[in-house]
Amino acid sequence: MLGIFGGSGFYKFLDNVKEVEVETEFGKPSDKIFIGEYKGKKVAFLPRHSRAHNFPPHKIPYKANIAAFKKLGVRQIIAPCASGSLAPNIKPGDFVVCNQFVNFTWGRDDTFFHGSSHPRNYEISTNSTKDSDNVIARLDRAIQDGPSVDSPVEPANNSWWNKVAHISCAEPYCRYLSDLIFEVCQNLRMPVHKDKTVVVINGPRFSTKGESRFFSEQDWDVINMTQYPEAILAREAEICYAAVALITDYDAGLEGNPDIKPVTLDEVLKVFNENNEKIKKALFEVIDKIDENRDCPCHKALEGAVIS
Ligand SMILES: [Zn+2]
Repeated sequence: MLGIFGGSGFYKFLDNVKEVEVETEFGKPSDKIFIGEYKGKKVAFLPRHSRAHNFPPHKIPYKANIAAFKKLGVRQIIAPCASGSLAPNIKPGDFVVCNQFVNFTWGRDDTFFHGSSHPRNYEISTNSTKDSDNVIARLDRAIQDGPSVDSPVEPANNSWWNKVAHISCAEPYCRYLSDLIFEVCQNLRMPVHKDKTVVVINGPRFSTKGESRFFSEQDWDVINMTQYPEAILAREAEICYAAVALITDYDAGLEGNPDIKPVTLDEVLKVFNENNEKIKKALFEVIDKIDENRDCPCHKALEGAVIS
């Protein structure tokens, strides 16, 4: 089954749609998941911010989202994401298939592999200091309340990912899926770029001009708040994952660049709506063309990992 981190606009095009609630050992995903069929292929949709858009980027339950897809049998994920441009030649309205990320987020629970020595597994000693009592109480609360950025929730002791693993991240995106998205966008005559680098910032605030100029000067291409840890968690779960960035505007650091005309809010919204229509078309084309049963190195990502 193919999984898409996408919004509600898709369901009306699908057959046999059902809404499922999935529980995972990492808590609930952002929303219920819609599963439907398109040309006989099953597709699952999950809006990463929820339909009510009540998860800001730093609070999205990334682990539960990926674990829910895994539980449903999703083998391939396509992740459209709104992004800003850091390069004059990548214009609002363009689409960008990323092949690298640079992570500037902090404090997010970014691995399934916390090992078995997590403080949750320590016995509470009667001699423990006040501070360590607080830590254990906080973790216990987190386990009851579900996942949060501050206190990652651990899987049960017998889980296969209750281990230590160092996974390769040199090529974090699935080559097959990325190439397929690029080809489809090209065939639809959409303005599309490939093999670009996305900088991921923590948000929810945008970058200062100084930060944005620094990112542009590194020759990084687009900027976003959700690609990390979503991409690498998918790899840890051995699911193919590809991202397509929908460029809404130029980032702050490009202001004043003589090659760039200032963008108004009206233009941003117009671009956003047009982008949504185009990406919808592209995704249905991808669903049509995708080889769901294809074996991919992504499905064996843990074979190459150092595990103990
Ligand atoms: Zn793959």
